[in-house]
Amino acid sequence: MIPVSESSVQLTENKTLENSDATSWQSLLKQSHIDAKALLSQLDLPESLLAGMEVGHSLFSLRVPQPYLDRIEKGNPSDPLLRQILPIAEEANLQPGYVTDPLEEKSSNPIPGLIHKYKSRVLLMGSGACAINCRYCFRRHFPYEDNGLSSERMDQIVGYLNQHPEINEVILSGGDPLATPDKRLQLLANKLASVPHLKRLRIHSRLPVVIPQRITDDLVDILASSRLKVIWVLHINHAQEIDTNLIDAVAKLTQKQMIVLNQSVILRGVNNSVKALSDLSERLFDADILPYYLHAFDPIQGASHFDVTDDDVIKLWQSLQKELPGFLLPRLVREIPNRPSKTLLGLQ
Ligand code: SF4
Repeated sequence: MIPVSESSVQLTENKTLENSDATSWQSLLKQSHIDAKALLSQLDLPESLLAGMEVGHSLFSLRVPQPYLDRIEKGNPSDPLLRQILPIAEEANLQPGYVTDPLEEKSSNPIPGLIHKYKSRVLLMGSGACAINCRYCFRRHFPYEDNGLSSERMDQIVGYLNQHPEINEVILSGGDPLATPDKRLQLLANKLASVPHLKRLRIHSRLPVVIPQRITDDLVDILASSRLKVIWVLHINHAQEIDTNLIDAVAKLTQKQMIVLNQSVILRGVNNSVKALSDLSERLFDADILPYYLHAFDPIQGASHFDVTDDDVIKLWQSLQKELPGFLLPRLVREIPNRPSKTLLGLQ
């Protein structure tokens, strides 16, 4: 992902990202570039981790906002949240089969900023910026700089949508589509609502998880007033990521009748156990979030140390099935390039 200052916030001015209140989401987002030494010191971790961090950071920068750091256990180098954000030397190991575009998204990119893989829905790159750099991100090598959404490009995309009546849903993704000012989101939502056959606006975001303050009353009002039905798909991988601030943020969305779902990725050393996945589903439900997808790991270059084999993932999911009621069991899926939908795994 690219730093916020370089993101393609071009539909309107960037001034609303300026908010001097240190606890505002804008300030927390700007401060999410933390120095490796400062992170080790804040989390009581040994300086011996520094050399590896520098190697990983040179490939994909260290970025983590304070509200997420607050949920990491101090002094624990194996903390499941820490593992998701800590750069390590292994990221430089090039392993056969691990590539820079595992989903071959470049082949489904008819207009820069738009990905059209599946029949009835398209994905819009709402922003190339993120509040957190997840080491396993399947878009860690994505060319966001070529996919910025200028006003002209957005008009081009609206033209494309108007010519494709089979598309009834737009997925706002990124980067993180919420790493952009509310006014710009409002403009995007209005342009999309002008396409008569669109029914749903889906927002794929990790920002409400890592900076719950991002769910402002203004944002909720903007989205709740759209004629499009709004669905959120958050990205939470571990129960420890769900704190009271996130629960309060989600309540603002559900109070306005927005549906809130979650997708996770199965990650070695983070959540590859029945207990971790079962605790996650239970805690999601407590927070009024429904488990939706559990993704098998996409073979992205630089993150092979997170991979879990399909056999192991399927065994885990089948054990999970015995633990949970059906509505708490996420669909186990893998994205295989050029298929017309995600591929379900684990079904007998
Ligand atoms: S997983 Fe999502 S939030 Fe994390 S780096 Fe990738 S796009 Fe950003």
